[in-house]
Amino acid sequence: MKRVLTIVLVLLVAAAACAQQGKKPVIGISSTWGEGTSVSAPLTYVKSVLRAGGVPVVLPITHDPEIMSRMLDGVDGIIMTGGEDIDPLKWFGEEPVPGMGQIVPERDSFDIALIRMAIERNIPLLGICRGHQLLNVAFGGSLYQDIPSQVRGSNVKHSQRAPTYYGTHTIDIEKGSLLNKQIGVESVAVNSYHHQAVKDIAPGYKVTARSKDGIVEAIEKIGSTKVFGVQFHPEGFTANNVDTFLGIFQHLIKEAKNYSATKK
Ligand code: MN
Repeated sequence: MKRVLTIVLVLLVAAAACAQQGKKPVIGISSTWGEGTSVSAPLTYVKSVLRAGGVPVVLPITHDPEIMSRMLDGVDGIIMTGGEDIDPLKWFGEEPVPGMGQIVPERDSFDIALIRMAIERNIPLLGICRGHQLLNVAFGGSLYQDIPSQVRGSNVKHSQRAPTYYGTHTIDIEKGSLLNKQIGVESVAVNSYHHQAVKDIAPGYKVTARSKDGIVEAIEKIGSTKVFGVQFHPEGFTANNVDTFLGIFQHLIKEAKNYSATKK
């Protein structure tokens, strides 16, 4: 009788563990201020997280470390979204060039602090466009503030006028990199909506994809499977049911599940 009870108990514990394992992970999505009156994150990120099997939550800008810390308690992974330019003077010590665009100082501070705190805690993190550039800047890298005026010889158009689910320029991807494993190819056409780009890569990070003019299109943290960034917008494809880049989000969800299982 005692033995039967033990077996039942073991089965119950195993079932509970499975249920925990199967839980959808919560993915925090960074946001901006819409006209100063709303919290704004494009629906395409939300849809992509849902399609990949995660629970999306939008993270509003705050500068209170305790609130940020509690935000991070509640998530299993993070997507740093696209958006405005990054203040070059404050974050990588360069005077602004005439081609620099709009900056939102409050968002820069929040995003960079959040990235550093999240990675310190081993939370999986995907940076997209601005988010990818911030990942580089947060750990000591720099950016081109404006490709057309700063990158001599760049003859690829990085500001496409085509739908977001349509790739217009090629990237070459390093074999064996996270991006290569996520989408299963070494060359692919991506969408492109940026005029800034990673210049000097941060220590501890490496470039894993470039466009034909040499612009950095993907980075990852060396020795990690859970911190990576892309210059293009995979959510533009994924949210519109084009599955070329779905693997990027699925990889984040997988890492987020693993992280969740380590959180007690
Ligand atoms: Mn591009």
